[in-house]
Amino acid sequence: YLAKGSRSGTARYDQQRDHFDPAQLALVAELRRAIEGNELVLYYQPKAELRTGRVCAVEALVRWRHPERGMVPPDAFLPVAEQTGLIDALTKWVLATALAQAVAWGLSFDRLTMAINISARNLARADFADTVLSALAAAHVLPGRLVLEITETALMTDPETAADVLFRLAEAGVRVSVDDFGQGQTSLSYLATLPLHELKIDKNFVGDLPDNAAHAAIVRSVIDLGHNLGLQVVAEGVETREITAMLTAAGCDIIQGYLLARPMPADELPSWLAGHRVSELTVER
Ligand code: C2E
Ligand code: MG
Ligand code: MG
Ligand code: MG
Repeated sequence: YLAKGSRSGTARYDQQRDHFDPAQLALVAELRRAIEGNELVLYYQPKAELRTGRVCAVEALVRWRHPERGMVPPDAFLPVAEQTGLIDALTKWVLATALAQAVAWGLSFDRLTMAINISARNLARADFADTVLSALAAAHVLPGRLVLEITETALMTDPETAADVLFRLAEAGVRVSVDDFGQGQTSLSYLATLPLHELKIDKNFVGDLPDNAAHAAIVRSVIDLGHNLGLQVVAEGVETREITAMLTAAGCDIIQGYLLARPMPADELPSWLAGHRVSELTVER
């Protein structure tokens, strides 16, 4: 891919080559083969509305099914993909695979959106909007069915290009979610100018609720901030009913986490959806 891929990707790769140790260089070669050879897999984790209990979205999360090392988590290979430009090919693969899966499941029929994670390097390319819109057209999926989850750090890497890309995508109807909110250092005035739909509170603030008073204060403030900006607010990493009750009381819109479901292989989602009872999540207010 690097040889025939984008000029900038190749240049960056060559430039950084010297900084990699041999083990990392081997990993780069292996990862390139993995992307081409279909060793990557997507797991899917649902999000549900607190008010109704209804599942409103699924998020695609990449894993590497390595022939010797088993299932490798994204944190172990995404940084290398980002440093080498392989992330362009990886994101294209994720887009095509997740959208084809959404069509196979009939997600739009169920009014579910498909969320995928986008890295800083993707957003720094002026042609990224075309990449996304072409993938949607090729898969025959309406732009409004796709949510791009973008971390604050990724938004801030090249704010001008990111804003251009996001405005083009939003104009076409694609939704944008700010992932891991509260971890980065986004300028709030910049954030307020972007065409956003959703704010996802970082799981580090959610995991130790309700005991951690500081985190509880942050979570309440972020929920209010999101609502004041006209955004839906999602809490990620929700593992207990107690946390769910607190989030419900604080006015959070959507939850995601092990309490609802762990990320699961594609073939498990339909039966999970069929078995999910809407009443399970809703808590007395
Ligand atoms: P993220 O997008 O913030 O995803 C949330 C992470 O938290 C996922 O880890 C998920 O499995 C995990 N998680 C979900 N519910 C819970 C919970 O209740 N408790 C705890 N402790 N963890 C929970 P995962 O799948 O290892 O992904 C890690 C990160 O890798 C993601 O964070 C995202 O930033 C990145 N990533 C994953 N897939 C992709 C992808 O296809 N492309 C790009 N660019 N990044 C991806
Ligand atoms: Mg995410
Ligand atoms: Mg997150
Ligand atoms: Mg994260």
